[in-house]
Amino acid sequence: MTADFADFPTRLAAVRARVAAACAGAGRDPASVEILPVTKNHPATAAEAVARAGLRAVGENRVQEGVAKRAACAAVAPAPGVSRVEPLAWELIGHLQSNKAALAAAHFDRIQSVDSEKLLRHLDRAAAGLGKTLPVLLQINAGHDPVKFGTDPADAPRLLEATLACNSLHVDGLMAIAPLGATPAETAAHAARTFANLRALRDDLAARFGAPLRELSMGMSGDLEAAIAAGSTLVRVGTALFGERSV
Ligand SMILES: *Cc1c(COP(=O)(O)O)cnc(C)c1O
Repeated sequence: MTADFADFPTRLAAVRARVAAACAGAGRDPASVEILPVTKNHPATAAEAVARAGLRAVGENRVQEGVAKRAACAAVAPAPGVSRVEPLAWELIGHLQSNKAALAAAHFDRIQSVDSEKLLRHLDRAAAGLGKTLPVLLQINAGHDPVKFGTDPADAPRLLEATLACNSLHVDGLMAIAPLGATPAETAAHAARTFANLRALRDDLAARFGAPLRELSMGMSGDLEAAIAAGSTLVRVGTALFGERSV
């Protein structure tokens, strides 16, 4: 992969074809699944390639890296065939510590990794101070992974209730990361189980709380088909779009 990400359009077309095939298999409209390119560990030119292609947003998993990259992004002209380029939205998809909540609230357009009431309170206060409503997703440890972040599914109702009470936050839905297994077959089984759990939890919470929770952020380069089959609305794709990360 060259530093200007010249093959991004080709890779994007391949990921779009995978999304379309998965949607066809699941009887879903491909427009109901958004591709969120994950630019972590890649330079600002990766995000510029995303903007040029006309996509809405990118995902970053570290606050400081995202803040610096956003500032470093240059304005770009649309690629051939792209009608116009909007300013990119930046989404935080990695673990967030409460002491960085104010920085994250100031520089990100959505936080997907909200997993505690303490973090909620910090984000709500920061967003109120900025005079903005900050969209969030609740990260759920739907695969019961001992090493991954995310709130326990049993605690999700309480976390959702607390989020709905925050005046400066808006909860768009849920997010999960599937745990890795020891073998590809085990990884695939974990993914299917994690995504089914998240979908069921979302349906249950949406009915109980009367909150739409429209967004189901699940699926990455290796498992986006399984996630789409289970109802994903947002696949977070790094490797398939930008190649292997050096870190
Ligand atoms: C890195 C990352 C991704 C993208 O993973 P790939 O396997 O490279 O597509 C998605 N979600 C989160 C939370 C990540 O940290």
